[in-house]
Amino acid sequence: MGLEYVLPAGDRDSFLSCRRAWDLGAWERRNLEPRETAPATGADAVRAALAVYYFPGMWDWQPQLVLRLVRTAFLDALPQRHGWDDGLALLEAYFHWAPGIDDMSPIAVTTEVDVRVPDPANPGSDMVSPDGRAVHYRDRPHLLAIDADHRYWMVEHRLTRGPWRAVELLRLDERCLSWCWAFEQAHPGMRVAGTVFNELRADAGLPSVAPARPERRGRLQQSGDGYVRPWSAAKSSEPGAEPEAEAEAEVEVEQTEAFRRVRLPRTTAELSGFGERLAAQVREMVDPELVCYPTPASRRCARCAFRAPCLAMNAGADPARLLAAGYRPRSHDPVPGQLGGGTWSTGRGAAPPTFGRRPAGGGSR
Ligand code: SF4
Repeated sequence: MGLEYVLPAGDRDSFLSCRRAWDLGAWERRNLEPRETAPATGADAVRAALAVYYFPGMWDWQPQLVLRLVRTAFLDALPQRHGWDDGLALLEAYFHWAPGIDDMSPIAVTTEVDVRVPDPANPGSDMVSPDGRAVHYRDRPHLLAIDADHRYWMVEHRLTRGPWRAVELLRLDERCLSWCWAFEQAHPGMRVAGTVFNELRADAGLPSVAPARPERRGRLQQSGDGYVRPWSAAKSSEPGAEPEAEAEAEVEVEQTEAFRRVRLPRTTAELSGFGERLAAQVREMVDPELVCYPTPASRRCARCAFRAPCLAMNAGADPARLLAAGYRPRSHDPVPGQLGGGTWSTGRGAAPPTFGRRPAGGGSR
């Protein structure tokens, strides 16, 4: 047992989906995973490639060199391609499209955030398990970026299929919202303006295009108040102008057949609402009397790694032999950090000079 009660974001998703699957797989429960590692998916490979594409430490490198590394990251993450031969064509098309609309500078990619969960019932205190361990929520946001008005945004890269989902469904999606909440918890005084959904359609059926060669149109400036991305012109803002008021910020959507970028400003109420829901869920998770019943649903069970032991339990059998033969303890080895993965430390409180500045109407969290 660790000194802390660790709640990775994936374990929370599992808890909200099916308590039996959560009980078998969660870090603080039976902590099991299949012995056979699941193959990487197209979404994994796209995220790996975009983590290199938006890597802050290489933001002012020669684009040709960066794109070569991005393609390598994609192929390394998806060695067998799994029949997804269109993946590289999609990425090349993205490299042609993205520089025209990227108007932020990356601050950190895949940086772990680990925060204690405050207890809304006891202001000033954090949630603890019955054995007295502080509950830590942990995740690895895809990208933290800053815009020309010095507002921070959490970016989630998504590989989708079929028609674009309604924007209001994106607003209900909690993973990216949780990153805003967690970063604000980790860095008191920080205000994250909202979430950006960066979507690529896997079934867009794009024809192959020539490898992209983005022209550098600006020079990265990190002195004073200037953050200018290297591959596109920076958004202009009046010196000294106040950032857009929270209530007036609007949803922005840029899309083609294959790509969509949705920028969703988030209010302080949305962020604190996530924290309250998380605390309520933690209260249930740490309850020793919690009943871990199964929640079958064909789409959910089709993807479940615990289908065989679940069926055995439903039949009244003891799943112990199945679990011993097919599963092993989950590994919790720390993921090594990447030099240059952040333009400022996310662990020591160091931050750009505008960090403590709060937007007008930004609330008083
Ligand atoms: S197979 Fe379905 S019901 Fe059983 S644990 Fe998995 S998700 Fe839950």
